[in-house]
This record gives sequence, structure tokens and C-alpha cells, in this order.
Amino acid sequence: MRIRTMKFGGTSVGDGEAIRRTAKLIGASVDEGYGVVAVVSAMSGVTAALIRAATAAETGQADVFRSARLQLLTRHLQAISACVAEADQEQISEEVSSLLDLLLRLCESVSVLGELTDRGRDAIVALGERMSCRIVAGCLRGLGYDAVPVEATRLIVTDARYGSANPLMEETRQATRDVLLPLLEAGKVPVVTGFIGATRAGVTTTLGRGGSDFSGSLLGSALGSEEIWIWTDVDGVLTADPRLVPEARSLPEISYAEAAELAYFGAKVLHPKTMLPAQAAGIPIRIKNSFNPDHPGTLITAKAEPSEQGVRGITAVKGLSLVTVEGRGMLGVPGIAAKVFTAVAREGISVLVITQSSSEQNICFVVPGSSAERAIAALEAEFAVERARQDIDDIRAQHNVGVVAVVGAGMKGTPGVAARVFDALGSRGINVICIAQGSSENNLSFVLDEADIEEAVRAVHSRSCLNGGACA
Ligand code: ASP
Ligand code: MG
Repeated sequence: MRIRTMKFGGTSVGDGEAIRRTAKLIGASVDEGYGVVAVVSAMSGVTAALIRAATAAETGQADVFRSARLQLLTRHLQAISACVAEADQEQISEEVSSLLDLLLRLCESVSVLGELTDRGRDAIVALGERMSCRIVAGCLRGLGYDAVPVEATRLIVTDARYGSANPLMEETRQATRDVLLPLLEAGKVPVVTGFIGATRAGVTTTLGRGGSDFSGSLLGSALGSEEIWIWTDVDGVLTADPRLVPEARSLPEISYAEAAELAYFGAKVLHPKTMLPAQAAGIPIRIKNSFNPDHPGTLITAKAEPSEQGVRGITAVKGLSLVTVEGRGMLGVPGIAAKVFTAVAREGISVLVITQSSSEQNICFVVPGSSAERAIAALEAEFAVERARQDIDDIRAQHNVGVVAVVGAGMKGTPGVAARVFDALGSRGINVICIAQGSSENNLSFVLDEADIEEAVRAVHSRSCLNGGACA
């Protein structure tokens, strides 16, 4: 059987009308003869509302989580009456309201304990997808398709890292095939919850914010789908954020590596882990706009031709801090870098960019601004002895910086790309604080003052010939 796995994000199931549009897109692939597995996010904004309710419960704000429950109930019931056929409305409404009763009980328990564990938070936020998958399935049934809601707790087996659990690939593959293939064979359309999984013991976990893309790719790969389609609300992966660069264009084709680089660096369309299972299984990912389905979107494959001008896209992240460890006594001393990053890792801080100049007198790295103080404290403790000996003179953070990443497989071995990038910055008087390029040569990252980021992205976009038309 030819299988197509389709994931729909929050805006694609944001209200009754969007759900109806989504159901028609699913139905169209069924009509083409595909076995279709749909994977859905929570309705837009619902995950955030659930997180707020859980957080309020921790501090005993019962009025906050009670009113959140009521708002969620109203919103879901409205969607049900707008897109589910009469005959199904009562049952689905009952299921949704019993899930929201569970929300109330969970929040009350959190409130009594005065503690919100990661495990408790996962049980609460999972409710968004558990509700939306029922409504989408109900809508499909009204259109004449034999759809069934399926909870991914039966399919995606994960470790117990609540909040950003890691799937156990082989077990997930097996469970997914065991549950979904018979449904497909029987002509059914499974509508699966994105974002969630369960431990071996059956406790609900989540894959991290935006994790439904990853769910879609995990399930699509396990089933040997022909393609994995990620439906979102933009025309695929763009050359830059269109809010920064009005000339940004949709990319017809990119490689898995480019998509992952862009996703890691803040292009919001895709969860960065999405590429992993698909790439391993050699399954193309297609990004499409459910509000503009005739647009071809972006196809992500292994063999996408590198772009001629080298650069494929540009992304930027703000709100970062640059940490510097400096000292003349570091020259030629092995183990300093290891100590730096061990200390930072012990704090659970993730590092975005690293540079060390060949004079070996300082190491710089970028962390989220909110982690900078902790990173400094950890380094001061780690290097107390070296500080006393003055082998290390300074450990400091520069706040309010951002990173711009210029991405493209075609940059590899193409001379002149970096020259154009830095010329674009120099000609606008933008100061570059530090630069990193890995030997894969498909990502050139540099650190700037946050205030310069937007102009920098526009300048590099235009100078990298991404604006379309004639290229200077
Ligand atoms: N609903 C989850 C979130 O908002 C997962 C997803 O939509 O991808 O993060
Ligand atoms: Mg998303």
C-alpha cells in the first residue's frame, strides 16, 4: 500500500473552518488511493493555555485554571459544532469535556501538592492533542471517511525525560506498525495525536514544544511512507523570516542538512529533530501551506541540488549572551576547553556557537541570555584555582547579542561567500563580534549586537542574491 503521512500544525486545526479545510486535504489524498495517516497538533494556542493553567495550579490559583478550562471547553465545543456531523457531535463533545474534567482534576492535584513536576506538566499539556485528534476524526467521518482517533501513547515509546522525551526508535517502529498498518489495511484513516508519547510503563510524555512535526516524521518513517507532508501556515521553508525580509521567497527544494541547520537556528517552520527519522529512512518531507494548498511548498530530500549562489537561507536568533573565558595562561594548556564545556553542561545549559582563536587566549561561546549568569557562576567555580594563579584573567558575559546563521550546502568549497556576507555587513557599518564556521561549510554563523540583527539579515539576504531578480 502507498502510504502518505500528513501532519497538521495548530493553525491548520485552529477552528472549525480550518479543521474542515484540513479534513478535505486528508480526504483528497485518500481519494488519490493513498493510505493516509494524519498527525495533528493541538488547536493553536491550546498548548500554551494548558501550560499557563498548570503553572497557575502550582501556585494555587484555582480561579485561573478553572477559567482556562471553561475557555478551552467553549472553544472546542464551538469547533465541534462547526465541523462535526450532527450524529457524532454529542459523543465527541462528551469526550472533550471528560478530558477537560481530567484537566481540572490534574490541576487540583498539582495545587494541593503545591508542586508541578515535569511528568505532571506532560499529562496536562498532552490534553490539547488528545482533544484535537477526536475533532479532526469526527469531521472526516462527516465527509464520509472512516477516520479513527489514535493516541500516540500507543505508538511512540520514549524514555522518561518528561518535557522533551527521546523516542526509542525500534520499539516505536514496531508499535506503530502493529497498530496503524491493520487500520490502514482495513481502509481506515488514523488521526493521531502529535507531540506525545509514553514510556515503556505507559506514562505519558511529550517530545518538546513544536514536537508534532517530529511525531509526523517518526510515524511516517516507521510506516515506510512515500512522503511525509507537514502542513503549516506558510508556503514552505523561506529564504528568511518574511517579517524581517519582505523579499523572502519560498525554497522549492532543500536538503535534510540545510533544513536542519535552518530549523536549529530559529526558522520556526519545522522542529529541528524532524529531519532525523526521515533522513535515516530516506523519505522526502514536503512542507505545505494548508491555507494555500496549490502552492508546491518546499521538498526536503537527500539529493536537493545545492544552490548556485551558495547561500540557501538566513536565520537569526536574538536574546543571547556571549560568554568569554580569557587568559594568557591558557596558551598550550590542554583541557581548558573540556573544563569550560563540562562546567556549562553540568548546568544543563545548551551552547549555540563556539569560537577559539588560534592564539588560544580566549574561548567564546553563546548561550541563551537567561542562562548567562548561571554559566558565569559555574565557570568561576570551575576555574577558581586558575583564577587565583592568574592563568585565567577574565570570565565575562556580553548580553543582548544575537546570532545570524547563513546556511547552504552550496557554500562548501565555493570561495567568496564569506567575503560577500562580511562585505554586506561592513558596508552598512555593522560590527561583527565573533564568527564560526564548521568544516561542513554549510553554516556560517556570526554574533552581532542584537540591535543590528534585522539590518544584517536584510543586507546579507540581498548581497547573497536571495532577493530574486538581478543579483549585484
Ligand atoms: N502542540 C504542541 C506545541 O504547541 C506541539 C506542536 O504543535 O507541534 O508545542
Ligand atoms: Mg510547529
